[in-house]
Amino acid sequence: MSTGVFIISAPSGSGKTTLVERLLREVPQLLFSISYTTRPPRKNEQNGRDYFFVSREEFEKMIAEQGLLEWAEVFGNYYGTARRFLEQARQTGQDLLLDIDIQGARQVKEKLPEAVTIFILPPSRQVLEQRLRARSQDTEAAIARRLENARREIHGYVSYDYVLINEDLDQSARCLRSIVLSERARRNGAAAGTAAGEAEKARPIAEACRRERLVRQIQPILESFGG
Ligand code: 5GP
Repeated sequence: MSTGVFIISAPSGSGKTTLVERLLREVPQLLFSISYTTRPPRKNEQNGRDYFFVSREEFEKMIAEQGLLEWAEVFGNYYGTARRFLEQARQTGQDLLLDIDIQGARQVKEKLPEAVTIFILPPSRQVLEQRLRARSQDTEAAIARRLENARREIHGYVSYDYVLINEDLDQSARCLRSIVLSERARRNGAAAGTAAGEAEKARPIAEACRRERLVRQIQPILESFGG
């Protein structure tokens, strides 16, 4: 069985973390790559679970030693994917799941053109703003900053294979699961890993999430962010 690489990107507040956690619970044989970062841990974050939190010196050493599959500077901090996660996935016959930004996705696609990319969009600017307020984790200034970042980041969807418009969490979770199962079946044949019936059911759901199929739904979202 060949190793599949799935890349998920999204502006913050689009529900990415919840969707990734659900995917990992629901689909077997998926290895989540825990990134390295130089940003300080937030409350509730654990070293080695959410990220590996390292100093700038340690990070720069990893770059110099070619230990990273990709890396980028996001909001003034370094973030990167360790090469060893890809090696581990290959050795254990799992697929690899990366939660990384657009710059990282581009680098991985250059090295591994068969990697599957998925972009999560909020249904509109208004919904994103409501969600950011509802989780009451940010100050007004931070909410304004996140909305401004989202406005810039959403245009990145154009280079992704699939787009999830996260209106309904259950539906988005089903689409995400279907993308992984259908891509897996395409790569390995339906018999490997998943029951053939399951892969067959997954295919049309995944196909409906292809970026080029969603142009009309994406347009009003871009407009809600001011084009
Ligand atoms: P946060 O600091 O909110 O956890 O993440 C900020 C951004 O960094 C998110 O868009 C997230 O996807 C991205 N990110 C997290 N890990 C990596 C990584 O290893 N590489 C890259 N390029 N981006 C990452």
